[in-house]
Amino acid sequence: MSPVVRFAPSPTGRIHIGNARTALFNWLYARSRGGAFLLRFDDTDAERSRPEFAEAIAADLRWLGIAPDRVERQSDRLAVYEAAAGRLRAKGVLYPCYETAEELDRQRRRQRLRGLPPVYDRRALALSEAERDALEAEGRRPHWRFLLPNFAEDPTAPRRTEIGWTDLFRGEQGIDIASMSDPVLVRADGSFTYTLPSVVDDIDLGITHVIRGDDHVTNTGAQIALFRALGAEPPVFGHHNLLQASSGEALSKRNAALSLASLRAAGIEPLAVAAFATLIGTAEAIRPVGSLDELAALFAPEKVNKAPARFALEELEALNARLVATLPYEAVAERLADLGIGGGAAFWLAVRGNLQRVADARRWWEIATGAVEPAVAEADRAFLAEAAALLPPEPWDASTWSVWTGRLKAATGRKGRALFMPLRLALTGLSSGPELAALLPFVGRPNTLARLCGSSSPPAG
Ligand code: GLU
Repeated sequence: MSPVVRFAPSPTGRIHIGNARTALFNWLYARSRGGAFLLRFDDTDAERSRPEFAEAIAADLRWLGIAPDRVERQSDRLAVYEAAAGRLRAKGVLYPCYETAEELDRQRRRQRLRGLPPVYDRRALALSEAERDALEAEGRRPHWRFLLPNFAEDPTAPRRTEIGWTDLFRGEQGIDIASMSDPVLVRADGSFTYTLPSVVDDIDLGITHVIRGDDHVTNTGAQIALFRALGAEPPVFGHHNLLQASSGEALSKRNAALSLASLRAAGIEPLAVAAFATLIGTAEAIRPVGSLDELAALFAPEKVNKAPARFALEELEALNARLVATLPYEAVAERLADLGIGGGAAFWLAVRGNLQRVADARRWWEIATGAVEPAVAEADRAFLAEAAALLPPEPWDASTWSVWTGRLKAATGRKGRALFMPLRLALTGLSSGPELAALLPFVGRPNTLARLCGSSSPPAG
């Protein structure tokens, strides 16, 4: 059966490279198996969710190359969650509780003092109808908890109940659902927490694989119990390691520097972000790829490390430079034109190996065709004058350089660095850069002559 996966961000901010990792793992997993990818906006938190963020997230995914097969918003599906909550109530596994946050806090503190785990003691289950009416008459509204199946007869005597699953990334996993409180599914204001909508959607939308960060491992026991309470088989779960900032801190939507939007604005290529986000913290070397399909072939859950992966911006920038060096002219032609860079494919191929970002090609275009401050050492003046005298006539092509330097070598006896470095310094003002053989035709004869004589501006006319 082909997999159906989902990426389920809450639209409360822009997504960062760690979220992109989750989206990509889902996408690549489905892609390489002929499956489908759903984008689901977990926007039941009306206060913090914003449609603008949902749109921006969809645009960020498009930029990465991910086109969802289907998009769903939880805010459109509230009636479906109501119906599911009704079924759970009817089964007696969703029960009303009236404790305030302060009361629960006090209760947890008392438990800790007595050396007990701070697990909700289910005292609300013992409330009689009259007691509930009295609490409601006080103006209290219930929140609703899911009764975890961790007891034999008496829910106030829970016993160790391990819920296990075979995790795509982590292998055999088990969570003792007696070690946790019954999760709140419906808040006192009637809104849903994340748990029920997520499970209901995973059932209704036919999700076969839930791939997400390993910060959700502890939720999985209760979620599996909820799938079963709703009469459904749980999907396959996979929890991948998280990305951390180089400081060791968790990435968060609040850290704007690592958002896809800011990486894009900084000139990082989408395929560099995709390759980096997918390959970091795995058994595969981080390397440039030519397409998401190539990345899909490299990705496998069992190659992903268990420990968190540290994200360093410098490493992403280095990967970007390696990727830019492989980009064919057609991939960048439009952007080069927008940047006012001419020279067609020949110029791009001459400079692409010397760029951090595509836009840096502009600098080499200026060096080739604009004003340059030649760096000419006194001791090289005579040599450069000789070079000027031996400069071949135009038209120039890629072979001009070797014809010229061959003659110069024969005339001066210089070779290697002593031959080439004074030319590079005079022609570009810099000690390193693209192959001069490829760059020279773009500099042209008048410009080259001027620079060999130490003159900075191109000759008029
Ligand atoms: N909205 C949840 C999150 O962003 C989704 C978790 C899940 O994939 O189940 O953490």
